[in-house]
Amino acid sequence: MTHHPVTARDEDAPIADLIHPRAISDADRIRFEGYLAEIFTALGLDLSSQATADTPRRHLRALYEATIGYEGDPKLLTAFPTVCHGGANCELAQVVEGPIPYFSLCEHHALPFFGEAWVGYVAHEGIIGISKLTRLVRVVTRRFGVQEQMTHQIADELTRMMEPHGVAVYVEGHHLCTQMRGVRELHPKTRTTAFRGTYTEHAALRSEFFDVAGLRRPA
Ligand SMILES: [Zn+2]
Ligand SMILES: [Zn+2]
Repeated sequence: MTHHPVTARDEDAPIADLIHPRAISDADRIRFEGYLAEIFTALGLDLSSQATADTPRRHLRALYEATIGYEGDPKLLTAFPTVCHGGANCELAQVVEGPIPYFSLCEHHALPFFGEAWVGYVAHEGIIGISKLTRLVRVVTRRFGVQEQMTHQIADELTRMMEPHGVAVYVEGHHLCTQMRGVRELHPKTRTTAFRGTYTEHAALRSEFFDVAGLRRPA
C-alpha cells in the first residue's frame, strides 16, 4: 500500500490555533446591554426586579463565553511526535476518543445546539491526547456555526495539525432551535460525520470507528 499522509487542502485556512482576542470596549458593552434590555423588555421581561436587573449583562457575558472559540487556543499548537512504522498495520491502527461534550450556537437562530463528538485518527508522525482533542472540539464549536460544517472543520483542523493517515469525526447534536419550536419528534438528534484519508478508502476502518466508539452506525 502506498504511504501518503493526508495533508490539509490549501483553502482550509487554520481556524483553531490563531489567537484573535475580541476587544469589546466598556462603551460598546454598555450600549449592547442597553439593546438587550430594550429587546427583553419589549418581549415581556420585567427588568426592574433584583433578580432580573442584571439579566442583559449576564446574557451578553454568556454569549461572549459561548463564542470564545473565535479567539483560538494557543495550547493547540503542538502534536506529540511519534514514529510511523509504515505499512498496512500503521495505516489501519486507529485511536478513537470520545464522547467529547460540546456546546455551540446555531448560526441561523443563535440558539444552542449541543451534544457529543467522537474523533478517530490513524496517526502518521504525530499523536494527540484527549485533552487536546477536547480543546480542538471546543475551539471549533464555541462559535456561531452549523453542525455539519463544524464536523468537517474538526476533521480538517486535525488533518492540518497532525498530518495523519486518516481522520474520522462523528457528531451528535440536539438543536434547541428545532426542539423549542415544538417539532413533533421527541428529542431528535442530528448526526453528522466527516472522513479523511484512509477512512475514505476502508469501510472496515469506518465500521471499527463506530464500533470502538460504541455507536450505531448512522443511516
Ligand atoms: Zn437554528
Ligand atoms: Zn505513517
